Amino acid sequence: MSLLETPIEYLKGVGPNRGELLRKELSIHKYGDLLNLFPNRYIDRTRYFKINQLQNNNSEVQIIGKIINIKTVEQKRGKRLVATFIDDTGEMELVWFQGHKWIREGLKINEVYVIFGKVSQFGSTFNMAHPDMELLAEHKANFRSAMQPVYPSTEKLNTKGISNRVVNKLMQQLFLETHTLFSETLPNYLIEELKLITKSEALFNIHFPKNQDLLSKAQFRLKFEELFFIQLQLITKNLIRKHKIKGHPFEKVGENFNNFYKNYLPFDLTNAQKRVIKEIRNDLGSNAQMNRLLQGDVGSGKTIVALLAMLIAKDNDFQSCLMAPTEILATQHFNGVTDLAKELNINIKILTGSTKTSDRKIIYEELENGSLDILIGTHALLEDKVQFKNLGLAIIDEQHRFGVEQRSKLWKKNEIPPHILVMTATPIPRTLAMSLYGDLDISVIDELPAGRKPIQTVHRYDSNRLKVWKFLKDEIAKGRQVYIVYPLIQESEKMDYKDLMDGYESISRDFPLPHYSISIVHGQMKPADKDEEMRRFSEGKTNIMIATTVIEVGVNVPNASVMVIESAERFGLSQLHQLRGRVGRGAEQSYCILMTGFKLSEDSKTRMETMVRTNDGFEISEVDLKLRGPGDIMGKQQSGVLNLQIADIIKDKDILQLARHHAIKLLKNDAPMEKPEHTTLRKVFIELSKKKNIWNYIS
Ligand code: ADP
Ligand code: MG
Repeated sequence: MSLLETPIEYLKGVGPNRGELLRKELSIHKYGDLLNLFPNRYIDRTRYFKINQLQNNNSEVQIIGKIINIKTVEQKRGKRLVATFIDDTGEMELVWFQGHKWIREGLKINEVYVIFGKVSQFGSTFNMAHPDMELLAEHKANFRSAMQPVYPSTEKLNTKGISNRVVNKLMQQLFLETHTLFSETLPNYLIEELKLITKSEALFNIHFPKNQDLLSKAQFRLKFEELFFIQLQLITKNLIRKHKIKGHPFEKVGENFNNFYKNYLPFDLTNAQKRVIKEIRNDLGSNAQMNRLLQGDVGSGKTIVALLAMLIAKDNDFQSCLMAPTEILATQHFNGVTDLAKELNINIKILTGSTKTSDRKIIYEELENGSLDILIGTHALLEDKVQFKNLGLAIIDEQHRFGVEQRSKLWKKNEIPPHILVMTATPIPRTLAMSLYGDLDISVIDELPAGRKPIQTVHRYDSNRLKVWKFLKDEIAKGRQVYIVYPLIQESEKMDYKDLMDGYESISRDFPLPHYSISIVHGQMKPADKDEEMRRFSEGKTNIMIATTVIEVGVNVPNASVMVIESAERFGLSQLHQLRGRVGRGAEQSYCILMTGFKLSEDSKTRMETMVRTNDGFEISEVDLKLRGPGDIMGKQQSGVLNLQIADIIKDKDILQLARHHAIKLLKNDAPMEKPEHTTLRKVFIELSKKKNIWNYIS
């Protein structure tokens, strides 16, 4: 067993209690985990401040001085420990709110300390809460670099006395005990070619940087290594899948596809749609399972692509399913697909949470005897009772709403897995997508159907509401329909419903019957009522649809030409873009009006400006990535993919590209990693694959 596998409590200075804390708070179980706890940032500890130089700017400073007295101060909530600290220029206070007894016992009066922490000012006195402190003699003896690492920490670790200084000390101890054992993980030729520093040097300098230059080199080396192994895993997995995972070969493109394509296409396909259909046909015709991500902006026409793929399945006597995240969207798909395929002899059914028992029974039967060709629905498709006779193709719309497990359930239903097509309207830049979903193939519909007029987007303050209402009335007078959307955030659900209902009331007053009629849809309504309201709106019986974000995904009412988004600052960029995509589907000029209050954060301003500036989903997602980071965008389930120790997929985009380039090169030259120069690499690779099984993203 390698020394790095040693349980963390055996490290001198840890023990059972701290071991437990480190495990719980930072997932540090072994020596190796501590070694891989990389600092979040570094601070300059070459500088010492005098008390009369302090400023009230909340920055971290280091001061030499001594404590001249200590007292306990009673306050409303508990006690506070206060020490007076002086140097030759003045005095200040050190304050502790917790853990008085052992802190008080440890403090020495009139000895010279080096204290470190954030200062704040109360009246004329400066103080520092929970300072990091050590005696000057100790401070000098300690082996430490000018760039002081700041490690990830938690509230609990701090209050239990595992301060940054303690972690630092543990790290020193770790290096003392293990120093010689950090073996190289990358092949020599790569280290030479890229002028990387060695693994040992990198680890040392990440924790105890000698200078800025070495720190940068250490960071580069470790980020590269992390991304490189991820790319190796992703690409290998893709290669293996293509070789090993058999799919049902859909050998023919037959009657249904051809008949539909020749006779019933309601419009000319865009070139992008044609290209994507070809890519899908190729996949389906091969012996390997298709695992394809279809990215296409809102309104780019993914539904018809899905239908064509399902027709190929039917031509080969296979069943298919189409799964959507909400009931409304599933219904919409069902209506759309049924309508498109009405001249074909195909059995299509819908299954959702609210499907009646009697209907369910028929569905289950037809699924098992094979007479049902296409099943469209929600999560209900994943229930155990849903057993296909021969599922050949599973299409998942709006991927980020489904978790990994849910998707793999579809897979488990058959011995030979169905082909999988994931459709998303939250496009991300292609290079990023390839890196995140390296084990998926990617198709992009990068062209909107001809004749669409770009949606005009404006940002208006609440104070301009009267003008906005006037505009809506003019549009309605022209026969158009309007969406008004309110935010609904789980944490503030009650308030949000209240806002929605208040909004509904005041809109009802401003747009009175019989001139105007209003639909409303929200999450607390019964599905049947929702459907009814949606139907009234889509049939043009109402002019205004008031809704929470439930209409976000996929609703299609071409006559609706205005989208008003209330409290737009509370929506994320991709949500705003999705919502906007609900209009602009007909021949008329469409508008999106973003309503906000006057006071906006910098981020909110950027979001509004971006929406007003561009209609391009890829551009928007790039801004979004910059604002939020990828974890949020991909949703919690997928953040595992992004659970990186040191690299940042957005900020280190260039290193990512480099890593991908070299990973591809290496695997082209030696896919099994069997050449002698890859012995170590292979070992590390296998080790990592065992540990991090976070790449089974679809399968
Ligand atoms: P999304 O990619 O957002 O799911 P849809 O498939 O719902 O887009 O298509 C949006 C609208 O565009 C639908 O009304 C659809 O009928 C229409 N559409 C799709 N492709 C074309 C095309 N090639 N030409 C004209 N209209 C199209
Ligand atoms: Mg859609």
